[in-house]
Amino acid sequence: MTTIDTQAAAVFVDTFSDGMLSGDVGIRFGCGEIEALAGMLRALGADEAAARWIADHATDDDEGDMHYAGTAAGYACKSCGGPSPVGVGYVDDQPGAAEASAQLTRCACGQSQLATTEPI
Ligand SMILES: [Zn+2]
Ligand SMILES: [Zn+2]
Repeated sequence: MTTIDTQAAAVFVDTFSDGMLSGDVGIRFGCGEIEALAGMLRALGADEAAARWIADHATDDDEGDMHYAGTAAGYACKSCGGPSPVGVGYVDDQPGAAEASAQLTRCACGQSQLATTEPI
């Protein structure tokens, strides 16, 4: 479905509405490139596909980048289940988990801690 009724537009939307594709290569695009692609998809009426490209791309944006979400996944300790430092334990995508992990160097039970952390 596109608002521009040409075969080329239909093929473009079909091709770039592929969720596997955006998941695989979305992070490889720069912010400007992903905006250009998403803008084209929106112009063709494919808002959902545009949003997915932005979301898949944003998972690799860093703080200060255009699409940085700030609410990426946090982490939970494999032992106590509480918040653990970023990159340690299970991925926890509950709201607030990323913020909680970002401030930690170790979890409550001490099982999950950053290997490089100096003793306080
Ligand atoms: Zn970006
Ligand atoms: Zn723990």
